[in-house]
Amino acid sequence: MGTVLRVEGLTVHYYTLRGIIRAVEDASLEASSGELVALVGESGCGKSTLGYSLLKLVPPPGRIVKGHVYVEDRDIVALSGEGLRRARGELVSMIFQDPFTTLDPVRTIGDQLVEVMTEHGVPEEEARTRVGELLESVGLPRDLARRYPHQLSGGQRQRVAIAAAIALRPRVLVADEPTTALDVIVQKQIMDLLDNIRRKTGMAIILITHDIALAAERADKIAIMYAGKIVEYGPKESVLRNPLHPYTRGLIASVPDIDSDKWPEPIPGYPPDLRRPPPGCRFAPRCPRAMPICKEKEPPRTRIGDHIVSCWLYGKEGRGDV
Ligand code: ATP
Ligand code: SF4
Ligand code: MG
Repeated sequence: MGTVLRVEGLTVHYYTLRGIIRAVEDASLEASSGELVALVGESGCGKSTLGYSLLKLVPPPGRIVKGHVYVEDRDIVALSGEGLRRARGELVSMIFQDPFTTLDPVRTIGDQLVEVMTEHGVPEEEARTRVGELLESVGLPRDLARRYPHQLSGGQRQRVAIAAAIALRPRVLVADEPTTALDVIVQKQIMDLLDNIRRKTGMAIILITHDIALAAERADKIAIMYAGKIVEYGPKESVLRNPLHPYTRGLIASVPDIDSDKWPEPIPGYPPDLRRPPPGCRFAPRCPRAMPICKEKEPPRTRIGDHIVSCWLYGKEGRGDV
C-alpha cells in the first residue's frame, strides 16, 4: 500500500488581536491508501485546525506558517488559485464538524451534488446520472436527490455530506467528528460506511475525534494530540497496548470500561491557553511524571519500536526510567 498523505512539520497559527494562538506546532503524520488514521485529543487541542490545513482551508486570521502536506507527492501548501481549487475535492476533501455548514437549505440534494461535480469539470448530464449512483453508494435511495436538507434526518444529512466529499474520488478524506452529533446506532452505521468506502476505493481517511474508544475500534494508526502538538503516534495496537506518553496513558485511563469495576480517572487540570503555552513540555503542568527538565526544554521526538513519542522520559537527557 502506497503512502497517499504525508504531513511534514505543519505549523499553523491564528493571528488574533489578543495574541498569536499556536494551534498546530510541527505536526507530522502519514497515511497509506485505504488506511484510517485517527487524530485524537481534547477540545481545543488543534484537531480541526490540522484537518483544515490538509485542504489549505484554515480560516482567517489563521495561517499555515510552516510545513508541507503532500497528497500523492503534490504539496497542497504550495498550491493556490485554480490548482488549489481543483485539489480540494479531487485530491483531498473534508466532512466538516458542523454538518449545517455543508448543505444549502434552499436547494435540493441532487442540485448540490451535481454542482460539486460540474465545478470540477464533469459535464452536467454525466453529473446528473452519477448522483443516483453516488447516493446509493452511501446507502441512500436515489429519489432522495429531489429532497431538501430539512427533509432529511441527521444520519441522512451526514450521508449526503459524505457523498459530496467523495463525489470526485479524492485520495484523502478528512472526517471531522463525523458521528458526534448522531445517536449510537446511526454512529455505527456511518462509521461502517466510511470503512466500506476506504476498503472499496483505497481512500485514506483522517478521522478527527475526541473519543479514543472510537479510534480504538476503527483506526489503523493513532496520533494523540495535546495542546497543538502530536505527542504520540504509531500503529493503533502499539499506541493502545503500550502507551508511552503520560497524556496517552491518562486518556486511556479516562475511558469508562463496562467490564471492570474500576472508575474512569479523568486527567486533572486543563489544557493550557495556546496564546501562552508553558515553556518546555506543554503537558508538564498536568503530568504526574514531570521532571525539572520538562518545564525548561521541549521534549525531543523519540522513536521507540514502531511508534514515536515526544516526552523527556524517553529522551537522552531525561531519566528514561519507564
Ligand atoms: P474541538 O474538539 O472543540 O473541535 P479542536 O481540537 O478541533 O477542538 P481547534 O478548533 O482546531 O481545536 O482549535 C485550536 C485552537 O485554535 C483553539 O485555541 C481555538 O480557540 C483556536 N481557533 C480555532 N479556530 C479559530 C479561529 N477561526 N480564530 C481564532 N482562533 C481559532
Ligand atoms: Fe510529562 Fe515530562 Fe513527558 Fe511532558 S516531557 S509528558 S512533563 S514526563
Ligand atoms: Mg474541532
